[in-house]
Amino acid sequence: MSTAKTFASQADLAEKKVSFDKLSDHAYAYTAEGDPNTGIIVGDNAVLVADTQATPVMAHDVIRRIREVTDKPIKYVVLTHYHAVRVLGASAFRAQEIIASQDTYDLIVERGDADMKSEIERFPRLFRAVESVPGLTWPTLTFKCEMTLWLGKLEVKLLQLGRGHTKGDTVVWLPDERVMLSGDLVEFGATPYAGDAYFNDWPKTLDALAALRPAKLVPGRGAALLTEQQVQEGLAATRAFVSELYAAVKPAAAAGRDLRSVYREAYDRLKPKYGDWVIFDHCMPFDVTRAYDEATQYRDPRIWTAERDKEMWAALEA
Ligand SMILES: [Zn+2]
Repeated sequence: MSTAKTFASQADLAEKKVSFDKLSDHAYAYTAEGDPNTGIIVGDNAVLVADTQATPVMAHDVIRRIREVTDKPIKYVVLTHYHAVRVLGASAFRAQEIIASQDTYDLIVERGDADMKSEIERFPRLFRAVESVPGLTWPTLTFKCEMTLWLGKLEVKLLQLGRGHTKGDTVVWLPDERVMLSGDLVEFGATPYAGDAYFNDWPKTLDALAALRPAKLVPGRGAALLTEQQVQEGLAATRAFVSELYAAVKPAAAAGRDLRSVYREAYDRLKPKYGDWVIFDHCMPFDVTRAYDEATQYRDPRIWTAERDKEMWAALEA
C-alpha cells in the first residue's frame, strides 16, 4: 500500500536558484534548477525573449537580469508553445510583437482558457502573484513552418520542425552561432511533460533539431547545454524517455488493458532510470494518459481542464 501523492506540483514549494548564463555573443539563458527557462537574444538594436515565465511578477526578475547586460529595447517575445506556465508573464515585457506559430495560436483559441485554469492549480509556486496575469497571451504575429527576424545584422530563425511536446512547437535558432532555444521539446535533468504531446512524432522532430548540430542549447527545463556533446546528450535523453514511455504503454493499451494498470506498470518501468528528474511524479500520470489515448483512439490530445486533471489524478493515484 502506498500513500496518495499530492496533486501535480502542489507540494513543490521550495525556492530555486536562478542562473543567468551567457552562451554566445548574443544569447543568454535564464534557468532555475528545472523550473521553466527563458532564452534571451540580444541583437544589434533589440532584444528577443523566448518564453516569459508564468506571471508578470515572475517575468520582472528576467527583465532585471536582462537590464544587467543591455539597455536595448525588448522588442520581441516568442512563445515556443502555448503552455500557461511559459506565456502568461508576457505582458511584463511590453514587447512590440508577440510571435508564435499559427498552430500555437490555434491551440490558444481552442484550449488556452482551460489550460490556464488547469496549470494555475498544477503549479502554485510558479504562479506566484497570479493576480498580475491580465488574461491570455495573444500572439500579434504568427507564421507557418519558419520565419526570419533580423535584429540589425543578427539573423534569428523561428523554426517549426515538427510536432512533439505540442502541435505548435517552435525553436529559436541563431545560425551563425549555432545556438538553439528549444522550449519543452528538449529537457535536461527534468521530466518531459507529454500530456499534450504527439509520441509518434516527437523522436523524429528531435532528429530534425539534432540535424542542425547545435553547439549550445537552452532546454525548456534544466541547465543550459554548453557543448555539442552536452546538446547531443540532452537530445538523446529526451528521445529515450519519450520512446521508452510510449513503448511501455502502446502494446498494453492496444491489447485493451485498462489505463490504471498500464500506468502502474509504466511508472515502475521508468522510475529506476528517470525517477530523479524533476517533476517525474507530476508528469507521469499526464504522460501515460496521453500515451494511452494516442495508442488507442485520440490522434490529437484531449483538452485538460482543472476538473479533468483532478479526476485523472484520483483515478491513477488514489
Ligand atoms: Zn510545455
